[in-house]
Amino acid sequence: MSRQADVLTMPREKIEQVQLEGLRKTAVHCYEDIPFYHKSFDEAGFDPYSIKSLDDVRRAPFVTKQDLRDNYPYGLVGVDRKDVREVHMSSGTTGVATVAAYTEHDLKAWSECFERAFEFAGAGPEDVCQICYGYGLFTGGLGAHYGSLQSGATVIPISAGNTERQIRVLREMGSTVLECTPSYAMHIADTALAMGVDPAKEFHLKVGIHGAEAFSDNFRRELERKLNYKVLDIYGLTQTGGPGLAVECLEQNGLHIAEDHFLCEVIDPATGEVLPDGEWGELVVTTLDRQASPVVRYRTRDITRILPGECACGCTHRRIDRLQGRTDDMLIIRGVNVFPSQIENVMKTFDEVSSWYQIELTTKNYLDVATLKVEANPDFDIDSTGAIEELQRRIQAALKTALSVGIRVRLVEPMSIQRSEGKAKRIVDLRGENLK
Ligand SMILES: [Zn+2]
Repeated sequence: MSRQADVLTMPREKIEQVQLEGLRKTAVHCYEDIPFYHKSFDEAGFDPYSIKSLDDVRRAPFVTKQDLRDNYPYGLVGVDRKDVREVHMSSGTTGVATVAAYTEHDLKAWSECFERAFEFAGAGPEDVCQICYGYGLFTGGLGAHYGSLQSGATVIPISAGNTERQIRVLREMGSTVLECTPSYAMHIADTALAMGVDPAKEFHLKVGIHGAEAFSDNFRRELERKLNYKVLDIYGLTQTGGPGLAVECLEQNGLHIAEDHFLCEVIDPATGEVLPDGEWGELVVTTLDRQASPVVRYRTRDITRILPGECACGCTHRRIDRLQGRTDDMLIIRGVNVFPSQIENVMKTFDEVSSWYQIELTTKNYLDVATLKVEANPDFDIDSTGAIEELQRRIQAALKTALSVGIRVRLVEPMSIQRSEGKAKRIVDLRGENLK
């Protein structure tokens, strides 16, 4: 750490003081300059001038992606149009996009937040960055671009696609930092291997800054092995200003939130209650110094938790855990929130089963019953009864420990769970039917 060392190692009291000032400023800015917030604060009885502590944010109403869509295009922009330097938009899978606008100040803050990935990685002016995130309205490309420039590194803005050219450039230009989605990094590695190029030997990579997608620890290890570099996760979303909201350090043990720019809470997505540190729930974000597109309590629908304790790297900003999917996928089993990704993580630790599974939910005596059907791997002897029962018991015990709720496990034959061309059907909820 060097360029932003003062900020990254600020004492906790100082961080909280910066956050409180930022929260007050942002709440008042939203109230006075954006009619949507004026109305929603009034309706919720939230007085933005009354904020005395960080916990007072809990009195403010949430803002959702739908609110952002409803105010497309400029409805939630809090500055004069002529002060807006740049605009990004989310992909808008349902038709209406959400807009993120940036003033000069906002672009500078964005650059600094993204640049922290370089600080954590120990990268800077001596490095060559190959940016193969897509440039354009998507915040990945230009976020990486601004952050990389801020670090003093040499930037190759190659953008996504044309994988053979990416491989040529990686070999010939001496790129040391690779910036793209984790799946594209894997595609580059596999394509190189298929071309007879060993990326571990012929590339010069030190670090990969990979975000915009959730990826597992196994995936990370495989990438690191194939490309012979360190993989750091970066998080952010268009609605909060793009990548850089939180960045992983070399400890690879959670992502440090840029707490001088963002106030993060984790809530129970079903009740909206703020959860204690360490508990999984939905990430809610309040920006602390954005001018053009501030948000107060934006519900990200992303699942994570605040990691308690200090990080060995010396950075004093709190960490969130790596993302565990979306609230849209959440199940409530006997009152306990369960995310399919948690189940997947448990199953990954068992070599005897594949990643194909289905969860069936039924009701018995008014209680939820969850049954996990999971395919045995072809080399597992499914005809050996004792072995099946023993394995089912072990998986059940591991699930109970990880989820704090009992799930029955039923091992099924390989390829017996139905495949679909689109998204896999993981959940079969029959609970409503039992009530008839
Ligand atoms: Zn750290």
